[in-house]
Amino acid sequence: MIGLDIGGTKTRGIKVVDGEVVADVEVGSANVQNVARETAAANLAELFGRLDAAGVTRVFAGAGGIDTEADAQALADLIRPHAPRARVNVVHDSRLLLAAGGARTGVAVIAGTGSAAWGVNADGEEARAGGWGYLLGDEGSGYWLGREAVRYSLHRMNLGLEPDSLTAALLAGTGLAEPGALIAHFHDPGTGRRYWAQQSRIVTEAADAGHVGARFMVDQAAHDLARMAAQVARQLDLEGPVILGSGLGMHVRRIQDGFRAGLAEQGIADVQILDRDPIFGTIELAEASGPEPA
Ligand code: BGC
Repeated sequence: MIGLDIGGTKTRGIKVVDGEVVADVEVGSANVQNVARETAAANLAELFGRLDAAGVTRVFAGAGGIDTEADAQALADLIRPHAPRARVNVVHDSRLLLAAGGARTGVAVIAGTGSAAWGVNADGEEARAGGWGYLLGDEGSGYWLGREAVRYSLHRMNLGLEPDSLTAALLAGTGLAEPGALIAHFHDPGTGRRYWAQQSRIVTEAADAGHVGARFMVDQAAHDLARMAAQVARQLDLEGPVILGSGLGMHVRRIQDGFRAGLAEQGIADVQILDRDPIFGTIELAEASGPEPA
């Protein structure tokens, strides 16, 4: 069986034989919401080649940007030529997170390059919040934080203020000489969703160093993620578990603390931070969805 996690920044693939992970490979994003179809196809070709996938009979993929049955079909069509004997399942990436957290019911919140919340209850009812992509929302995501740092720096520039430590770090990280250059750089096709999401590290480091503006941004991100989770929990009449995962969610303490605090205010105490990569959820989900074809 091959499991895939197709995020906004990278695609990770594992090959599992008799319950053992025998290969684990990472390539560029194959999320067609973020990269051209040709790029997605090339990245998938590289991934399947490196996983030595020709004879495989099962592929289970979780991907961002899968919002309709047609989206899932289009991605399955890109995968099939690489594993012609396989049954191929494509689901939204938030589902991997819940499964990787060992839960059958609950709310999964992705805080990575993008963001999304999704949940399912014991009656099989599902609900979702956000996950509309970076142009429409993705509050609390890495991209959102990177863009906020740019906006913060531009506001200060307009006010005639000298660059502070956050803006200085952003200029150093982007190799620019002055804040005004951020505008063209932001719109330059050579930068993009992934590039700006990577700048979120500058914001979280500045927050840790005590920068008030950066703390405000990180706290706002945590608040927005908690609000999304609470909406889903309320719709499904669930008290938990709420599982937070992906890059920012798993690694930024201030996001985790703010997320817990925001949910506590809503009466939700059962909050877990995912401690393994969401890709391992593909193994449980593939098993739960039936046997491999003979
Ligand atoms: C996508 C969602 C995805 C989320 C997390 C967003 O940009 O629109 O589909 O779940 O990122 O990967």
